[in-house]
Amino acid sequence: MDFNITEEQELLLESLREVMDRDCTEAYMRECNERHESPKRFIDALTEAGFGMLGVPEEYGGTPVDTMTLMLVAEEICKNGGPHFVFGQALSIADMLAYGSEEQKRQCMEEVTHGRVGFVLGFTEPQAGSDSSAIATTFKRKDGKVYLNGHKSFMSNALTAKYMLCLARNADEIEGESKRNAFSMWWMPMRSEGVTVEPLSKIGWHMMDTCEVYLRDVELDGKDLVGTEGDGFMQAMVNFEVERLLMAASLLGYAECAFGDAARYANQRVQFGKPIGKNQLIQEKITFMKIKIENMRNMVYRTAWEIDNHMGVQTDSALAKLYCAQAANQVVDDAMQIMGGIGYTTDCRISRIWIDSRVQRIGGGTDEVMIHIAGRQILKEYQ
Ligand SMILES: Cc1cc2nc3c(=O)[nH]c(=O)nc-3n(C[C@H](O)[C@H](O)[C@H](O)COP(=O)(O)OP(=O)(O)OC[C@H]3O[C@@H](n4cnc5c(N)ncnc54)[C@H](O)[C@@H]3O)c2cc1C
Repeated sequence: MDFNITEEQELLLESLREVMDRDCTEAYMRECNERHESPKRFIDALTEAGFGMLGVPEEYGGTPVDTMTLMLVAEEICKNGGPHFVFGQALSIADMLAYGSEEQKRQCMEEVTHGRVGFVLGFTEPQAGSDSSAIATTFKRKDGKVYLNGHKSFMSNALTAKYMLCLARNADEIEGESKRNAFSMWWMPMRSEGVTVEPLSKIGWHMMDTCEVYLRDVELDGKDLVGTEGDGFMQAMVNFEVERLLMAASLLGYAECAFGDAARYANQRVQFGKPIGKNQLIQEKITFMKIKIENMRNMVYRTAWEIDNHMGVQTDSALAKLYCAQAANQVVDDAMQIMGGIGYTTDCRISRIWIDSRVQRIGGGTDEVMIHIAGRQILKEYQ
């Protein structure tokens, strides 16, 4: 395994840093965060510089790159104080590229090429969080039309996105039929009649909206089915592994960002007549933070390398997501401790990162679900 960054990757990261120096300043991030606004200027700049289409196949106007490059970019954005969700469209739209009809793909790509999200990922419901098989939103065919009814929870970008990729259960499912075959994916325009969107008030992630979405007799056509009827569950699982790794890479970046700020502060801040970094209690924190960052980096890069070498990563992506979510939160928390009172103010980006990284232990599969996925697989190897 060779984790040396190639010349092309270094040039790419350099151009990313240029974009960030100009359009992702800390003052701008703070302003967007305080106003609960999307960092549109930064997203537009990323789109214009070609980062929005990185990893998207050429036939859709994108620039294909390997998984390692995508992870490096995700890491670099967060390492420089940017929010994780501005990057990774190539991975989140993979479901549509794999299963969407030509028209659905065109509609999705029209959004992505212009720097907007391709769609809202419509899985979670009040009674169906970790357990997606409890999804109760139904689709029903009637007189050549399809009607959706239900309640989707925690829908990111529902205020702005034009479409939802909605996982729904067949209302006419036969008793005793395998539950998993009852689900299908639907391509639903968010502005359809019968769709109501109510924003949630969150403690963080203020630059991206998250909403409750109510569906009442939302009328679709048969052609709005995505992929194969009854395969919705299987289709939903296909892309999870690489998305989890993307979250892990962002968490690595957040940890590096907080670590850098805290280490610089430890060298500068004088108490009791000397920099606080001269105290072994601070050095201990710095040392263990560094170890965690190195571990995170090794897990993320190695799993990316495995994907690029066509190896299965079901266990490793779950381990990387679990470890990085927990370790990044510990590193960021220690960084805040080193910064003392100033770290708790909004003048300091560590406070934003501290809040924003916490949700990564919940979203995209909780810590416990990652253990559930990895634990079973690991034990199988010793049967
Ligand atoms: C800011 C934000 C944005 C989100 N965006 C989206 C989105 O765009 N689209 C979308 O579909 N979803 C989205 N989600 C939802 C997210 O995926 C869920 O919150 C997550 O899957 C967990 O579901 P839950 O919150 O219902 O928790 P639950 O599943 O109710 O879990 C509660 C607790 O029980 C634990 N638990 C559950 N089952 C087990 C088990 N078998 N063994 C051990 N412990 C268990 C969990 O790990 C957790 O600690 C978002 C969530 C947040 C917070």
